[in-house]
Amino acid sequence: MKSDLKRVLSKVSDFEDPRIKLEQYITPPALAADLVFTAYMQGDIEDKEVVDLGTGTGILGIGAAKLDGEVTAVEKDENALEAAKENAETLNAEISFVESDVEDFDIEVDTVLMNPPFSVHSDIGLSFWEKALEIGDHVYGISPRGARDSIKSLVRSSNHRIVGVQEYDIGLPPSYGFHTEESRETPVDLIITEEK
Ligand code: SAH
Repeated sequence: MKSDLKRVLSKVSDFEDPRIKLEQYITPPALAADLVFTAYMQGDIEDKEVVDLGTGTGILGIGAAKLDGEVTAVEKDENALEAAKENAETLNAEISFVESDVEDFDIEVDTVLMNPPFSVHSDIGLSFWEKALEIGDHVYGISPRGARDSIKSLVRSSNHRIVGVQEYDIGLPPSYGFHTEESRETPVDLIITEEK
């Protein structure tokens, strides 16, 4: 089932013209499938209200919709949102799309999925975490290994606790700004939290 999901998610199109300031890059399909499937196995997707914060071209939201989540996908970049809508249509995933800054999204949900900006150019990554902990009962978020301590302390000061941390290495494109090589393996965490 997870490999079926990965196969579907590998059809989600990437950003055509990534905006570096918004730190746009697509989650690799294997990691996206792993994140969504992990949440599904915990009972946090099927028939649950799921939000994909900063959906980009839609990969996490589409994965959750495919596993019968009731998905809302939030994105502030119009072009990305258009691409996400097309991907959802092509892949037959039912999703409510909202064009909004995550700051302004205040609907409480069962589950938040996200691969937020990694805060290379600003501190927007942490504000995604603040928002997710506020609106979700369960959060599945990807973050760079170097941010683990900051996220842990943010979680400690919230009404959530950490229930799991899974480690991955992903190749980020050079446009991302960490580095000069073609693409470099970057250590990331999938951090899972739930409301106390
Ligand atoms: N979730 C997607 C995209 C990750 S890139 C995936 O996993 O493939 C991060 C996304 O967050 C980008 O699409 C970017 O446009 C969006 N984003 C950045 N800041 C945002 C904000 N303040 N509000 C809403 N979306 C934002």
